[in-house]
Amino acid sequence: MSDTDHTTDGAAPTADEDRALSLELDGITKEYTEDDGSTVVAVDDVSLDVYEGEFIVLVGPSGCGKTTTLRIVAGLEQPTRGSLRIGGEDVAGREPRERDIAMVFQNYALYPHKTVRGNIAFPLKIRKYPDDEIETRVQDTADLLGIGELLDRHPADLSGGQQQRVALGRAIVRDPAVFLFDEPLSNLDAKLRIQMRTELNKLHDRVGRTSVYVTHDQVEAMTLSDRVVVMNDGTVQQVARPKTVYQQPANRFVAGFIGEPPMNFFPVTTSPEGDRLRVDADGFSLVLPPEITDTVAAWDGDTDRLELGIRPEAFEDAALVERSLAAGETFPAYVAVVEPMGPNTDLALRPDNRADDEAAEFTARVANETDAAAGETIEIAVDTTEIHLFDPETGENILA
Ligand code: ATP
Repeated sequence: MSDTDHTTDGAAPTADEDRALSLELDGITKEYTEDDGSTVVAVDDVSLDVYEGEFIVLVGPSGCGKTTTLRIVAGLEQPTRGSLRIGGEDVAGREPRERDIAMVFQNYALYPHKTVRGNIAFPLKIRKYPDDEIETRVQDTADLLGIGELLDRHPADLSGGQQQRVALGRAIVRDPAVFLFDEPLSNLDAKLRIQMRTELNKLHDRVGRTSVYVTHDQVEAMTLSDRVVVMNDGTVQQVARPKTVYQQPANRFVAGFIGEPPMNFFPVTTSPEGDRLRVDADGFSLVLPPEITDTVAAWDGDTDRLELGIRPEAFEDAALVERSLAAGETFPAYVAVVEPMGPNTDLALRPDNRADDEAAEFTARVANETDAAAGETIEIAVDTTEIHLFDPETGENILA
């Protein structure tokens, strides 16, 4: 992919541009034929370069094609079209076990009658590694994962987190070139998920192998990845570093998918206000900073009508802003709900002229010192340098 492609923020996530390519997906498409003869396109022309040692996360809503993509890399599915190279070699037609990969699934399916030792050793046994090498590798792997003391236990006598570590151990013991993870943490409770997420991060730092990880959880995607691949409807929407998909989403889909609470969207018309651009939504107007004005002026599409995106965290209770605010930086909003979150408070607001209209509601995340109360009208401030503008036809982010 080239640097001019707006869906990517460049090649590798580190300064080391000389790193070898570990995985190359080129125009991968997977179609299924339904019983009634119709075609389902599960993966649609996906191209992706993954560098050696990189941690890539495929994220997107249910049915977007991420698992199918991973299964194609694993060799569990054959693509309808496109090519796949692992370590520079075309692997078309190669069985999963002939690819130098290991996969960790959501359902980690340990062998119940084998001990932890037996489970971790299994991939080496079937490949007929010598006994002493198996012993050393199993112990080293178990120590790495902090389960070195549990080798003689059976899976039923382990906690969920320990079982998941055994499943990881079984994958890493062979030291394959590529790890594939399919929602490996989704069976764990919330607290354990966060703990295992941190451990996976550390493990990747230590082992340093190329990893492709599938999840629908954007927090997992953001925290684990060197680069995030956001998918929708079988297609790649953006490939970029976590910070970039948040700060410069390529399009409206990515903008709405990444970020919690999600970005608010408002249809707007535009007009000049002195030498600045002004956007008018139903119930408020904002005057945009010079840099944004210039970028919109340079856009070659129609800019009369746009879609404005404002993240909840780009709002603040105007009463808490230390400097005096200019016209076009604040507007009056009716407070429908106040949700104190601890560090912040989330407000469900409606532009004041639409106080009775639930459909006009948007979310603002403000400082927890706010005195906003449900049923009142407050002045809400917008950091206009943080706004996003999308082409309403194509969804493209015209500021990214
Ligand atoms: P989830 O998070 O729900 O697992 P996903 O993003 O991993 O979703 P896939 O499992 O890759 O999505 O499925 C992509 C699309 O392909 C879906 O519409 C799915 O119904 C369809 N699909 C997947 N496997 C098959 C199959 N064997 N036959 C027909 N359609 C399939």
